[in-house]
Amino acid sequence: MVSRVIPVDDFDLVIFGGTGDLARRKILPGLYRRFCAGQMPDGARIIGAARTDYDTDGYRQFIREAIEEFSEKNDCGPERIDAFLHRLDYVAIDAKGTGGWPVLAQKVRRNVINAFYFSVGPSLFGDIAERLHAYDITDDDSRIVVEKPFGRDLASARQLNAVLAAHFDESQIYRIDHYLGKETVQNLMAVRFGNILFEPLWNAQFVDHIQITVAETVGVGGRGEYYDKSGAMRDMVQNHLMQLLCLIAMEPPSRFDPDAVRDEKLKVIRALEPVDLHHLVRGQYEADGDSPSYREEAGDPRSRTESFIAMRCHISNWRWAGTPFYLRTGKRMRARTSEIAVVFKDAPHSIFGADAGRHANVLSIRLQPNEGITLKVTIKEPGPGGMRLIDVPLDMSFADALGDEAEDIPDAYERLIMDVIRGNQTLFMRGDEVEAAWAWTDPVIESWERRHDVPKPYEQGSTGPEDAAVMMHRDGRRWREIKV
Ligand code: NAD
Repeated sequence: MVSRVIPVDDFDLVIFGGTGDLARRKILPGLYRRFCAGQMPDGARIIGAARTDYDTDGYRQFIREAIEEFSEKNDCGPERIDAFLHRLDYVAIDAKGTGGWPVLAQKVRRNVINAFYFSVGPSLFGDIAERLHAYDITDDDSRIVVEKPFGRDLASARQLNAVLAAHFDESQIYRIDHYLGKETVQNLMAVRFGNILFEPLWNAQFVDHIQITVAETVGVGGRGEYYDKSGAMRDMVQNHLMQLLCLIAMEPPSRFDPDAVRDEKLKVIRALEPVDLHHLVRGQYEADGDSPSYREEAGDPRSRTESFIAMRCHISNWRWAGTPFYLRTGKRMRARTSEIAVVFKDAPHSIFGADAGRHANVLSIRLQPNEGITLKVTIKEPGPGGMRLIDVPLDMSFADALGDEAEDIPDAYERLIMDVIRGNQTLFMRGDEVEAAWAWTDPVIESWERRHDVPKPYEQGSTGPEDAAVMMHRDGRRWREIKV
């Protein structure tokens, strides 16, 4: 199969924070891969803008090393790296002062698409937005891209929205949640809305429950002090898990366009019931041999921040009344895996008798590793000996099904940056969505803070605290296995 790459129009992409960790690891290697895939026109330019005093050659060398370190996929050879680096320019800039801004104003072309990636801490968003405006660098067609975290509560998110809204229209603002750029997440929408099979069953009448798991094997490591101010609820649930929940639970939008999709997602968040603390478990990983505990890594022996959270949520609407959504995410867990599982109800009656066995259909959507979708169906156990039922997977792994083309699937950042250039906001969060997610998150956090809740310890390499399993057990269900 030949992969279809649709080139975009000429553009100038300015990356504020172009020397930072995110730019080195994700943004520039991602742009390089799009270049290799033939998606970047000759008139595309990338301008790094950060504090470090590089000249253009110095910056190109810095990015060459980043690409060599972080772009193992789709590498198109040494000459092509040179050609890519040739598109790069650099301006040393002071986001809070005047240094570099007149130079940037001179470099950014007004006759092509221009986009500005704010790959800096949120405290600089206002300064940068203001200066882009004051130096007349942007116009009504310019786009800005902002990174998570988008606030740490409703008040700060509102403030950030207001800061950006002072200079940019909502149609110009691209709030990144890189989970939305994953191939499987978009495939989830294709499976739901492109087939007749699933949508009629996609409701409380036929779905027993839904599980969303995002498990990481890494700890907080060197980011401990920073992470300790947020925790799993703010760092993962409010954004990534909430976005996945929205896509799985939303009503079919009338069109696959930005506002139609985001309107439906917003309705889901607004229909979420407050989480009852009896259905919520917070955890912190313990030390394991040489591997330090969460508290050691956070630098606070009495930290009450969670590195794991599991909860049961409910969506109050006709489609989902009574169907629980179980969310779970944590660090230092058994394996790195992200999965959404739709667990259907049992068939209403077994014609084969109680001894044959019964298995629920499960549609699982794997985001990592091995992106793909599996449907477990019940069949007869092969061979003689009567009618015994087993469940087998109908598997659609992208790597198997699509062959070489799967190799060319852009990673989340690549796709999302190209969407910015195309002016497509569908896979970006709208301001009201982010605020609604915080409006749901804030009272949950406040309720455990009021109670001085202490997270339960859990072993590294496990599936989280025992209480998380007990919570499920009480509901007569089990968590999906986290497979190594
Ligand atoms: P970083 O600390 O590695 O880099 C910060 C960048 O900002 C540097 O290029 C620095 O020169 C620039 N900068 C800082 N102060 C400046 C100033 N006053 N004027 C001009 N430039 C200035 O940060 P990072 O890890 O690259 O993260 C950038 C943003 O992306 C943050 O908002 C972060 O929360 C978010 N983010 C990062 C990651 C990641 O994996 N690193 C993941 C998700 C979101």
